[in-house]
Amino acid sequence: MAYQSELNTSRRYLMGPGPSDVHPRVLKAMATPLIGHLDPQFVDIMDDIKQMVQLTFQTNNHLAFVVSAPGSAGMETCLVNLLEPGDEALICIHGVFGGRMADIAERCGARVTRVEAPWGEPIDAQQVKAALEHCRPKVLAIVHAETSTGVLQPLEEIGRLAHEAGALFLVDAVTSYCGTAVKVDEWGIDAIYSGAQKCLSAPPGLSPVSFSDKAVEALERRNTKVQSWFLDLSLVRSYWAGAKRTYHHTAPVSAMFALREAYRLVLEEGLENRFARHRRNHELLKRELEALGVEFIVHPDYRLPMLNAVRIPDGVDDAVVRRRLLDEYNIEIGGGLGQFAGKAWRIGLMGESSTPNHVNMLVSALKAIL
Ligand SMILES: *Cc1c(COP(=O)(O)O)cnc(C)c1O
Repeated sequence: MAYQSELNTSRRYLMGPGPSDVHPRVLKAMATPLIGHLDPQFVDIMDDIKQMVQLTFQTNNHLAFVVSAPGSAGMETCLVNLLEPGDEALICIHGVFGGRMADIAERCGARVTRVEAPWGEPIDAQQVKAALEHCRPKVLAIVHAETSTGVLQPLEEIGRLAHEAGALFLVDAVTSYCGTAVKVDEWGIDAIYSGAQKCLSAPPGLSPVSFSDKAVEALERRNTKVQSWFLDLSLVRSYWAGAKRTYHHTAPVSAMFALREAYRLVLEEGLENRFARHRRNHELLKRELEALGVEFIVHPDYRLPMLNAVRIPDGVDDAVVRRRLLDEYNIEIGGGLGQFAGKAWRIGLMGESSTPNHVNMLVSALKAIL
């Protein structure tokens, strides 16, 4: 594809760990002529988005907005605002993304205690309880849907333990958000971030975030400046929520148009209907794959409906199969990450990609290839 020729990408079916397929209404919204990022009409759009962030996180938090960068920047926003040098943090690690949180927390100068689970299993609340006997963390962080392993982490008990220990409860909901229940207020989550390109089915590059009043107080009590200027919530807040919206950075206007439409689709469908759809298509995929002899890695009690981690059958060449799916069928699935590299496929049924047609297409392509 030389630069002289017009862009000409294939129509792919996105069934990996994100991005997922995007509804035509979202693409159409993204092509809306630009307006300025301080235009009163854009300020109204930001208010709409903020309200839809609250509805989808099921929270009344005042601080709810969207970071102008991908999910990892949402992760970094939560950690750099809540941690100061010398603070303690307890980070639960059951895959790649927990490890990334620990790395960022250490870069903030925090003393990190790790609680780990084997890949493919959730963190056991008893381990967290035991670890809390030896540390006094300001933040206890955990990934809700570990995209690298396919595990859905139960949160309620660990959230209770965090609060009993006086810690703020921080949750990564990048993959779970808009695909399975994420009840921020009911579960006592103090800080949460997600991403646009997974079950929300918007283009990548944005990260919905929310902080409880308690987390905002912790931010206000800081002794040191947040190490990142761009992600410092005390500054970003006045752009998203100040009485007078002041310039902070130029918002990605077109991406926000797209996000607004993606949220409208989520709320038109209804959260509960959307969660049920994700479960149904996961069940369909499970039946079809098991009939082909392909096994799931995660115990049924902890399986993610939107990210299906399966064992690559013996004697099958991982790279060849994924390449053929892409070249011959226009289907993208994910390979294994970290410890699962070469051992697992990660099949995403996220948002617009969670349909019976997607499942049927993939299964018949796999049948032909295997
Ligand atoms: C995708 C993902 C991220 C990172 O999001 P990016 O948009 O790729 O930066 C973080 N956590 C989890 C659980 C994810 O699945």
